[in-house]
Amino acid sequence: MSSAGIGAPTPFDTLGATLSCQCGYGDLCVCPLKEAAMRAYASGSRTPLPAMNSEQRDWCLEEIGSVEGHDRKDHDYSTDQHLARAVLNAWTDYARDKGLY
Ligand SMILES: [Zn+2]
Repeated sequence: MSSAGIGAPTPFDTLGATLSCQCGYGDLCVCPLKEAAMRAYASGSRTPLPAMNSEQRDWCLEEIGSVEGHDRKDHDYSTDQHLARAVLNAWTDYARDKGLY
């Protein structure tokens, strides 16, 4: 995770609050807003999403770069969808490394 810490505001919170999460847990979903937003981008949501602005893309790259084995340079030119997938992959690896799974 970034040095900002878990639960810190992200540039995706406003957007995330408008999305229904696609994790599959429905009303039981406890995903942070940033995760709901990442899942929406990663899945190529049926609802068109606004293109990520540079602040949002930077935040994604920070998240990716903060996880060992992931290099933000690999994603400088990724589409929003691929960027979001890379963030979710990085989070998954991070959680696995820390034994959270
Ligand atoms: Zn969810």
